[in-house]
Amino acid sequence: MRILLLNPPGKRIYIRDYFCSKTTKSNYLFHPVDLLGLSGTAAEFAKARGGELSVLDCMAERLSVDAAHAKIEAFRPDVVVSLVGSVSWDEDRAFLSEEHRRGRRVLAIGDVLHENAEDRMREELWIEAVIHVFANADLAHYLAGERELIEDMSVRRDDGTDPGEPTRLCRLEAKHRKGEFVLPRPRHELFPATGYHFSFAKNAPFATVLTDYGCPYPCTVCVIGTLGFQTRAVAEVLEEIDALRASGVRELFFMDQTFGVVRSRALELCRAFEERGDLSWTAYTRPDTGDDELLAAMKSAGCHTIMMGVESADDELLAAYEKGYRSSIILDAFRRARQFGLRTVGTFIIGLPEETKSSLEKTLELAVRMDMDFMSLNMAVPRFGTPFRKQALELGLASERDLVMDQGGADAFLPTSTLDRKTMLAMKKRMVRRFYMRPSYLWRRLTSVGSLFELRAQLREGWALFSRNI
Ligand code: SF4
Repeated sequence: MRILLLNPPGKRIYIRDYFCSKTTKSNYLFHPVDLLGLSGTAAEFAKARGGELSVLDCMAERLSVDAAHAKIEAFRPDVVVSLVGSVSWDEDRAFLSEEHRRGRRVLAIGDVLHENAEDRMREELWIEAVIHVFANADLAHYLAGERELIEDMSVRRDDGTDPGEPTRLCRLEAKHRKGEFVLPRPRHELFPATGYHFSFAKNAPFATVLTDYGCPYPCTVCVIGTLGFQTRAVAEVLEEIDALRASGVRELFFMDQTFGVVRSRALELCRAFEERGDLSWTAYTRPDTGDDELLAAMKSAGCHTIMMGVESADDELLAAYEKGYRSSIILDAFRRARQFGLRTVGTFIIGLPEETKSSLEKTLELAVRMDMDFMSLNMAVPRFGTPFRKQALELGLASERDLVMDQGGADAFLPTSTLDRKTMLAMKKRMVRRFYMRPSYLWRRLTSVGSLFELRAQLREGWALFSRNI
């Protein structure tokens, strides 16, 4: 069996992975972590059956639709396992239905199928099955016909009708997804060697690594909290990292949504990284997770940049969306991270229904006051499967038929109670300009670069960010 893992082409640079699709906010594009996770499972399945696995990331290779079809034709896969995203749903449907017409079996994974997948399968006859979890062996079980072993997929009934009626096979609901998961070593070597950019990388090449899956926190706007929470054994993670080191990769981006959520394990990982002594990395953590001991351990282990969810300067908004911390905690976390010599990135969600001009002003003021190194503004979207989506539907801000949306900021999906979409988008662009165009900030950025690689990367990302926000 010939299997292709595919990130389809598109008119813009789309990031479709981890059930959170969006356009890139500047020029960055990291390795799609779903396909990385599936690559280990698919590689072992193919190897055991004398098959072949290939990866085609049309985003990294910047392939046109025609060039992508031609590359797929050249590989002649039996099965295409493709990312899809709400950000690019119309383009994805057109591309993948054409692949189906050319005789491929198409399995899909992505945010737009995270909720009501069977309804989408009834509308889109090219979808043979939907993968709901990439950190398990479901793909292998499905391809082997072992339906009774599948944890969570939407499949077509095997009843002789063509196409079969969609049905969800779910032996393990997300809320019960706990403990450890096993992932055969992701096959980084199958992904393109160039074409990925990470704004915070200090060296090239870099790799994207996942040491846990999902998130145990309940923030209501976020899809990751709906996935359950599982960790990978430290030994498995180290095996993957050592394989990367052996191939010359020292720069890592940990896609874990909260590094340090299992504290003892995070400290163990940091000790192992420190022993290796040659890693340089970036990770997400929460303002209330990174205490002094953890920040010190991360710094000693090679971490140079941490990203933390700020979301808003408004304590009422933080409480309403169940963030679990107040702005005073956020201020303290950024101050301490700086003390440990870590660069800081604040991620924000703007455009929630309660947003006003004044709350946006307060948020910008907080970002400046915290003296963060980078500010990342995400536009609120009613992500599939989240409590916030239910709220947006109830408020009439979105409809069940709204399948296309982008949190990356190319557009504003939601009006707020006081701001229409056009004003919201204009406000977001103004905030980006006001934050990044401060002379003191530009001077600090320029004087903090440590290498030609970094200088070029910062100029490229800076220009891309600016051109998207004028
Ligand atoms: S802590 Fe972060 S990843 Fe976890 S649910 Fe909240 S926003 Fe999502």
